[in-house]
Amino acid sequence: MEVVNCPRCGKVFTRIKNPICPACEKEEELIFQSVKEYIDEHSESTLSELSEGTGVSPKKILRYIREGRLEISSGMRGDVRCEVCGGPVSHGRYCDACKIKMNQNITDMFSKDSRERKESNTMHIAKNNRK
Ligand SMILES: [Zn+2]
Ligand SMILES: [Zn+2]
Repeated sequence: MEVVNCPRCGKVFTRIKNPICPACEKEEELIFQSVKEYIDEHSESTLSELSEGTGVSPKKILRYIREGRLEISSGMRGDVRCEVCGGPVSHGRYCDACKIKMNQNITDMFSKDSRERKESNTMHIAKNNRK
């Protein structure tokens, strides 16, 4: 625990876990809720419309999305870009194609590993059979 100045409002508070003070935290939560509610009511609104409607900066809204706290509404599809290929994203940080590719890479890694292990086993058996 340490006493720090809140980077958001400048008040002094005792820091336990969060970088901002409890009052700001509550405010931030309210802001997040207002964004969420706005999307619920205006699912077709783009990122800039959402930002205008809620008064929350697009940067902050994108952060919510990257953190996985916010679903990308249909209106925002074109505004959120995949971190790998820059394509449209429907949820989180990467597009569906890149997500599939990443999953495949992981499965490939595992299957290659087990294949190699199997190959070295068969080689071992072949050697033993030769004598
Ligand atoms: Zn504060
Ligand atoms: Zn992508």
